Order: sequence, then C-alpha cells, then structure tokens
Amino acid sequence: MPAAFEKLQQVLRKLPGVGFRSSERIALHLLLGKPEQLQALVGALGEAARAIRRCTRCGNLSEDDLCEVCSSPKRDHRSVCVVENVPDLVSIERSGSWRSSYHVLHGKLSPLHGIGPDDLFIGRLIERVAAGEVDELVFALSNDVEAEATCHYIQEHIPAGCAVRITRIGFGIPSGGGVTYADSVTLKNALDGRRSFS
Ligand SMILES: [Zn+2]
Repeated sequence: MPAAFEKLQQVLRKLPGVGFRSSERIALHLLLGKPEQLQALVGALGEAARAIRRCTRCGNLSEDDLCEVCSSPKRDHRSVCVVENVPDLVSIERSGSWRSSYHVLHGKLSPLHGIGPDDLFIGRLIERVAAGEVDELVFALSNDVEAEATCHYIQEHIPAGCAVRITRIGFGIPSGGGVTYADSVTLKNALDGRRSFS
C-alpha cells in the first residue's frame, strides 16, 4: 500500500476502539468511497480543530470563552460537579440528573504515569472555590486509588476559611468504566445519594 495509506492507518489506530483491522477498513472506506464524503470529513475535522477549545472556567469543550453550561442562565453555577473527563460530563448531562455546573479535570493524579497537578485543570477549580464562586463541590470521579488521591489533593488545596461543602457521589458506579459508561439511573442515584467527603 502507498506510504500515505499506511500513515492514515497509523493515525486511525490511535483512535479509541480502533485496532489494526478496523483502521484498514476505515481507511479503505474513506479512500474508495465518494471523494466528497472524504472532503466533508477533512473539512469537519479542520473546522473542529480550529473552533473548539476548552471553556476557560470549567474545562468543557466550547467554541467561546465560556461553554454552553457555564453561560446558561438556567443553571445553578454555585454547585459544581467535578469530573475526570469530558465524556463523564456528557454522560451525566445525558442522564438529566444534574442541572448545575461542572468542572472537568482532564484526568486524575497518577504518579505512576507521571501525571501531576500541573498536568490537570485543578488550579482553575481551586481559584473558583477561593473566589467564593462555589457553595458545593460534588466529586464524581471513578472509584479507584488515583481518583481518591485527586479528590484529597483538591480538598487539601482549598484555602482555609472557604465555606464550601464537599461531597462525593454515592457508590454504585462500577470501577473501570467509571462515570462515562454508567447508565442514567445509576448516575441519578449516585448524584442523589452524594454524601460528605472527608
Ligand atoms: Zn464551562
């Protein structure tokens, strides 16, 4: 196969859930299909890469400084659900069980993988709390040691005297898939059953 084909296949293989065989199938589908379909994909990728960035307040994806959640007047911006990644936010939004705002950390602390606080969107969250913008933080992270350490790190770095209530979602979220793959009923129960974090 031409070198460009191999290169395309290599890039596709970096996508989640795409192995060698499916990267080959997708590459062939794109290159043998209608040229306008391929151009539409190239255009959409270019436009998304140019237009989409992180919300400066919560880290969600956005085309503007503030995302749709942060700029919505219908939301309670003083209750903040803290999630690891954007797919977690999407999953909670889809469940309809949270109508306040979010903070996306873009990962969790993992000394083993060299991920420290500066690699995450933690500083901005602490700023939000320190500025008195938040009444409640709800940790909706996965159920593992790294997530636990991340929650403790955040709690320890909130300046003394901040009147913020810190809770965590109730258990029931399967470890492994975490929040992203939990079904709506589980997410609703986990959020409704949140309890004090200490
Ligand atoms: Zn936002």
